[in-house]
Amino acid sequence: MSGRTLAAIFILATVLISSGCGGGAPERKDESLPVALHHAQLAFDRGELDRSKLIFSSLASPEQSLTTRGLARLGLGRCALKEGQLSQACRQLELSRKLLSPGPNQARALLYLGEAQLRSGATNSGLNQLERAYSTLAANDEKSRAAFLITRTLDHLGQPVAALYRNASQQSSYPEYSSIWIREVKLDTSTARPVETPTPVVRSTRIKNPGVIRIQKRNTWNARPVRNGAVVPMTRPFRITVHNTADQPAIELLGEQSPARYLRRIQDYCTGTLKWGDIGYHYLISSDGRVWEGRSMRYQGAHAGNNSLNRGNIGIALIGNFDRNRPSTYQLKSLRTLLAALCHLHDIAPNAIAGHQELRDTTCPGRHLQSALNRMIKDLAQSSIRTRSR
Ligand SMILES: [Zn+2]
Repeated sequence: MSGRTLAAIFILATVLISSGCGGGAPERKDESLPVALHHAQLAFDRGELDRSKLIFSSLASPEQSLTTRGLARLGLGRCALKEGQLSQACRQLELSRKLLSPGPNQARALLYLGEAQLRSGATNSGLNQLERAYSTLAANDEKSRAAFLITRTLDHLGQPVAALYRNASQQSSYPEYSSIWIREVKLDTSTARPVETPTPVVRSTRIKNPGVIRIQKRNTWNARPVRNGAVVPMTRPFRITVHNTADQPAIELLGEQSPARYLRRIQDYCTGTLKWGDIGYHYLISSDGRVWEGRSMRYQGAHAGNNSLNRGNIGIALIGNFDRNRPSTYQLKSLRTLLAALCHLHDIAPNAIAGHQELRDTTCPGRHLQSALNRMIKDLAQSSIRTRSR
């Protein structure tokens, strides 16, 4: 192995590691929070919702600091949640999540956003927020609430629950949440079906014109078998995360000119150096628009950052760097067809598709791909509404 190859692999290693698992930025200390926030919170705790809303609203204006505005939106969201105004609650809490920097306060916004989404029947999004919140929540009561909501919801869906959540949820019970699952059971029984192992060839259409998609199977890129014992079975897929590979120049060209050789090289790196079971993504799309089978859908992927983010999460990577370049028309066309096919096959709503940066602190999948993806998700959602209303 030449020095240059070693250097290239080393660079690739650094990139894969740094792009995969970046932790969130530490919470910004803001000593100068207005006293009024404290008063609004006290009013909330006493059940004086009107007074609390009045003070929180006055603190949500643009001249306040981001943290103050974020906490004010959090308060408004919790008031709306108390009053059963779920779409208002989701809106305020989503704003709060965006205004607050990563840390315990943002995790609280995610906790209540998760609850509001579960109550509105957006079960998968709700679970997603709660799992994101769990590890960062500071207060024990809130941690145990998140664990309780996750555990009870997964139990109702007939899905496995991580021991971490089950143990943490056994300290307390929260009867105020029980109405969530009474309605949920009726709405969501169709999603509790067993795992399918798919090749997404679509025959009928739930989403309008999902099209037929050709997948380059693993043997076309001479994949090595998966390393048994280093992979976990996939649970029911309920979300999709889109990435870019953002490779170093040494390997970037290979990705463009010979995707098959590129895939094998990445697999060697993932299984050899990283000791993973296989390549991390389930599907990859090269610049000529071909869709390549990565890790088998029988196994949970390794792409989103940690076990709870990877659970039930289909990983799709477009080969390229889309902070710098625009994805090719072929790539976008294939991505749309693949997303439509996967949504159809697994009964995933388009709003459960996200760019990697929506799940954690990363620039992946790059600004050009993220904005194309946002448009695509909107478009897919429109198509599925039109099809359903027929
Ligand atoms: Zn990514």
